[in-house]
Amino acid sequence: MKTSVRVTLIGARGRMGQTIADLAKDDPKIDIVAQCDLGDAIDPATKDCDVAIDFSNSSAIDEVCRAALRHGKALVIGTTGHSPEQRQLIEETAGKLPIVFASNFSVGVNALFALTRQAAEIFGSEFAPKITETHHKMKKDAPSGTAKTLGEILKEGLKIEVPIESIREGDVVGEHTVTFAGPDERLELTHRAGSREIFARGALRAAQWIVGKPARLYSMQDVLGIPPAK
Ligand code: NAD
Repeated sequence: MKTSVRVTLIGARGRMGQTIADLAKDDPKIDIVAQCDLGDAIDPATKDCDVAIDFSNSSAIDEVCRAALRHGKALVIGTTGHSPEQRQLIEETAGKLPIVFASNFSVGVNALFALTRQAAEIFGSEFAPKITETHHKMKKDAPSGTAKTLGEILKEGLKIEVPIESIREGDVVGEHTVTFAGPDERLELTHRAGSREIFARGALRAAQWIVGKPARLYSMQDVLGIPPAK
C-alpha cells in the first residue's frame, strides 16, 4: 500500500529547496524521489513522482509546465516573479492538471489575505491603503509576490491601484504590512516570517492535498479551507 506522496523538488539547491528537503527527511508522509536545479533536465525528473514542487525561478516555468503535462503530474508552484504571459501559461496548464499556485504558503499570510479583504470591505474608500514589504538583499524580484497578491485583493475590493513600497535589507525572511490610513486613525496589519520553514511546511501540506484533485488552479486558501470572499 502506498503510504507517502512522491515529490520531485525543482530548485532543490536554493534556500527554499533545501528547507523543504530538510523538513521532508523527518516526514514519513513525504518521499522526495527526485531533485533538480539549474542545468538539470526537469522532464525526466518528473516521470516517477505524484507531484512536483517548484521553488526555482520564473524562467523555469515553461519547462516545469511542459514536463508536468507530458507525465500528467500535479504541481505546487511557489516561485514568484512570473510575467503576465507566464501566469497565463500556468492558468492554461491548470485546465489539464491540478495546480496549487501561491505567492505565500504560510498560514499567517493567508490569514493576512483574508483579513485585508475584510478590512477593505469595512473601510471602503474612506481609508487610503498602502502595502510595505521587507525582504533579504538576495531576493531577486520586487515587489514580492505576496505584496502583489495583497495589491490584487485591494484592487478587487476597492477598484484602485494600491502603492507598494519594497525594502531590501539584511537577512529579513519576509515582512508585509497593509496600512489603512483614515482621518485621525490608522490600522496596520503586519505579518512577520520567523523562518523559511513556514513556507516549506505549507508547500508540503499543499503537495499532499493536491494529489488526486480535479484539474484546476487552486490557491493556498483552498488548501487551508479559508472561505472565498463573498
Ligand atoms: P534561491 O535563489 O535561494 O533558490 C532558487 C534555486 O532555483 C537556485 O538553487 C537556482 O539555481 C534554482 N534555479 C534557477 N533557475 C532554475 C531552473 N531554470 N531550473 C531549475 N532550478 C533553477 O531562491 P529561494 O529563496 O529559494 O526562492 C525561490 C523562489 O521561491 C523565488 O521565486 C521566491 O520568491 C519564491 N518564494 C516563494 C515563497 C512562497 O511561500 N510562495 C516563499 C519563499 C520564496
